[in-house]
Amino acid sequence: MLEFRNIAHAYNGTPSVNDISLTVNEGEVVTLLGPSGCGKTTLLRLAAGLEQPLGGEIWLDGNRVSGPEMMMPPEKRGVGFMFQDYALFPHLSVIENVVFGLPEKGSLATRRGLDVLAEVNIETLADAYPHELSGGQQQRVALARALAPKPSVILLDEPYAGLDSRLRERIRDQMLHVLKATKTAALMVTHDAEEAMFMSDRIIVLRDGTVTQTGRPVNLYCQPNSAFVAEFFGEVNRVEGVVRDGQIETPFGNFDARAEMKDGDPASIVIRYEALRIEPDSSVGANAVVMEARLLGRASLIHLSVPTGTDELHLHARVPGLNSFGEGTQVRISVDAEQAFVFAAN
Ligand code: ADP
Repeated sequence: MLEFRNIAHAYNGTPSVNDISLTVNEGEVVTLLGPSGCGKTTLLRLAAGLEQPLGGEIWLDGNRVSGPEMMMPPEKRGVGFMFQDYALFPHLSVIENVVFGLPEKGSLATRRGLDVLAEVNIETLADAYPHELSGGQQQRVALARALAPKPSVILLDEPYAGLDSRLRERIRDQMLHVLKATKTAALMVTHDAEEAMFMSDRIIVLRDGTVTQTGRPVNLYCQPNSAFVAEFFGEVNRVEGVVRDGQIETPFGNFDARAEMKDGDPASIVIRYEALRIEPDSSVGANAVVMEARLLGRASLIHLSVPTGTDELHLHARVPGLNSFGEGTQVRISVDAEQAFVFAAN
């Protein structure tokens, strides 16, 4: 449905994105994920036809729509666009907002508008005005408006940014169902990894204007190819070490070095908070002390001090539910190797 081939772009000579290739297939939700300034919005604007590439090509539904020497205008692309602020017209009712850009007019347009309002479950609000609606309802009007012309691809720019966290969970659930039910291909932008995992069939992680890893959510979470990606998908501890005989020694066990690492290479071990296992152990030789333990709701965060001989490591562990670890408790910690990753230190 949508394909970027080796796309490069710059703002007034300053590169924004470089050599980006990506595809979004029919009915697929693909997310661009990365920190602020990595080029997510620029890629969305390139897809929409609001920016022109310096190099490469963009294809939409079998047609070449952008290149360095040509650009199909946004309104000819059959692309839906949903902005962060929804951009609803305040003086138009919900149904008038939804049918605004439709090629058909009159009762045909109204019929299509009511159908799409029904798809997002707000047909009863057709005659209301935007200021009478909650944030979640406005969000659904914006989605209905973007879906009304039956676009082959919908572009979503941080679609939940304006919603509080409870509402966001409900709305994104509904949004996912609507996208899947209508088989609309979607390219979404977010800086929130959990949101990306919830919504996406595939995630494209960007860093400094280039793709650093692409995959299904589970691949990115379980097999990150860099400390950057691992850190983006969850809170992590970082422990530094040095490769010796193919291993990196730590106070809580040895880790295998990567095949390409040589003796003496510095290494970082990235350990997710939830990968640390804690067992109470007051006997001599217990290798950590609880500094603090805080209940965060569904989980508790445990601050641990691990003596290293000369110094101490400060680690965080996330354990489910209410914890029973008082300050000063001696514990023994171990690491779930599935959630600990070794990378060359940088
Ligand atoms: P993101 O959406 O990931 O936050 P953007 O695509 O907005 O990133 O920005 C990518 C890079 O391009 C950043 O370095 C940003 O400062 C720059 N940039 C974005 N918009 C403009 C603009 N209109 N003029 C000049 N530079 C811009």
